[in-house]
Amino acid sequence: MKVCVSREVTKNMGKPTGFLDYEREDSASASPLERIKNFQEFHTPLTREKQKLQGARCMACGVPFCQSGRIISGMASGCPLNNLCPEWNDLVYTGNWEQAYERLEKTNCFSEFTARVCPALCEEACTCGLNGAPVASKANELAIIEYAWENGLIQPNPPKVRTGKKVAVVGSGPSGLAAAMQLNRRGHKVTVYERRDRVGGLLRYGIPNMKLDKQIIDRRVQLMEAEGVEFVTNADIGADIKAEQLLKEYDRVLLCCGAANPRDIKAPGRELKGIYFAVDFLTSVTKSLLDSNFEDKKYIDAKDKHVVVIGGGDTGNDCVGTSIRLGAKSVTQLEMMPMPPVERADTNPWPEWPKVLKTDYGQQEAIAVFGHDPRIYQTTVAEFIGNKKGELKQLKIVTLSPQKDERTGRMNMVPVEGSEKVIPANLVLIAAGFLGSQKYVTDAFRVELDPRTNVQTAKGCYQTNISNVFTAGDMHRGQSLVVWAIREGREAAKAVDESLMGYTNL
Ligand SMILES: Cc1cc2nc3c(=O)[nH]c(=O)nc-3n(C[C@H](O)[C@H](O)[C@H](O)COP(=O)(O)OP(=O)(O)OC[C@H]3O[C@@H](n4cnc5c(N)ncnc54)[C@H](O)[C@@H]3O)c2cc1C
Repeated sequence: MKVCVSREVTKNMGKPTGFLDYEREDSASASPLERIKNFQEFHTPLTREKQKLQGARCMACGVPFCQSGRIISGMASGCPLNNLCPEWNDLVYTGNWEQAYERLEKTNCFSEFTARVCPALCEEACTCGLNGAPVASKANELAIIEYAWENGLIQPNPPKVRTGKKVAVVGSGPSGLAAAMQLNRRGHKVTVYERRDRVGGLLRYGIPNMKLDKQIIDRRVQLMEAEGVEFVTNADIGADIKAEQLLKEYDRVLLCCGAANPRDIKAPGRELKGIYFAVDFLTSVTKSLLDSNFEDKKYIDAKDKHVVVIGGGDTGNDCVGTSIRLGAKSVTQLEMMPMPPVERADTNPWPEWPKVLKTDYGQQEAIAVFGHDPRIYQTTVAEFIGNKKGELKQLKIVTLSPQKDERTGRMNMVPVEGSEKVIPANLVLIAAGFLGSQKYVTDAFRVELDPRTNVQTAKGCYQTNISNVFTAGDMHRGQSLVVWAIREGREAAKAVDESLMGYTNL
């Protein structure tokens, strides 16, 4: 086949026919039955030579949606960090790893996190994906960042000059870390306060170790410490340490406390023993793993239990994978909404985020172990049933059917009469989403909230109603993704810097 490509188009494109010559190839995963034996990461990256060919598949499109990060039909399409995917895909193909890292680092300070946990909005908006497999940009990102770490390209880069200004960051999740890194490099003295015993937010205690090995966070935190960022753990601001103290000691305070209020399930029997919120379960497991390799037994155990996860999303999937690793007898995942289509619906065209069925790692493992998909759609809990000792034993579940509310026009999921069924359950994990910021901390700083209890700012801004107090991440935009948290942290750092210096070069 003869392909004619203009000189202008090929400027940034190593191999004009790469997308025709090479198939997409992903990193190898350990088989589900093998990987559930431990909590280690289970992907083996391609060799560098093979990864280069994946870079060659990028077409350097005239309109690279992969890096656009636009909201289309209410969902983000392309990378919210505006990662320069076509540029570094090309540099991967030509083997210019150092330059590739320089381009990657320009927009993303924590590629080692996003290359592991991001749902890869870039790939879903890739033009190659319009008619075939998208470019493997996420694996290319991982190859670049790990090359940079292995080859000493990432070294402490403390500021040459200090500004004399002090900033407190409350919360050490990806938004707080991104802001701290930027503000410190700018020369401000940054202290990060974290109420937990370890730094990382949901990267640490939320996302399980098999998805993001916690040494990856330690490596980055050590680098930030070497650059001059101070971390204070076991420090609950608004409880142990008063907000006034921070406001007095620091020129600016940036609140990055996440959206930690879990949505509850209100059904009879909710008080029974054996019902937990997903993040409490996942936190206990990771903490015990890190503290003692599970020897302290201080985790919520799923061994030999019938586990029911309420919530069909990503957090629910992490609970499925974790329960299986702990030796659950059965795992069921309840989802209120109907099963999504296998392929994009006509109303959900490219480059919109595809609302299609995804079978994630935990669900794949459940299929391998129990022989069927753990998800039951259009179903919720009608009642938690216990024994005389107050222990959970069963769940009464009920089928839901979509029904249009004539008044509001909204679609509601309503119980179908006579569809109740009882299933065994010794451990229930509620993964039904989050409801905004926590009151004690927003009250302590007297910051205004929006109707969803996220901290309110003007659109696209990060300053709250209290002039020296800024906010970023899930606490600001509501429950979201690591990539958005990093973006918010970087943008908030700019706003804080500008308010301190009168201009910003971040
Ligand atoms: C189980 C789970 C799995 C997820 N998996 C993914 C995934 O695979 N990919 C993805 O992109 N996103 C994922 N997410 C979402 C993602 O983790 C979050 O969007 C992101 O971590 C938000 O970052 P953040 O910095 O705003 O807040 P967080 O990560 O929530 O960090 C907030 C930090 O602030 C601390 N804090 C709160 N209040 C105080 C206080 N008063 N004083 C001191 N410290 C305080 C908290 O302890 C916490 O450490 C997942 C979320 C969950 C719950």
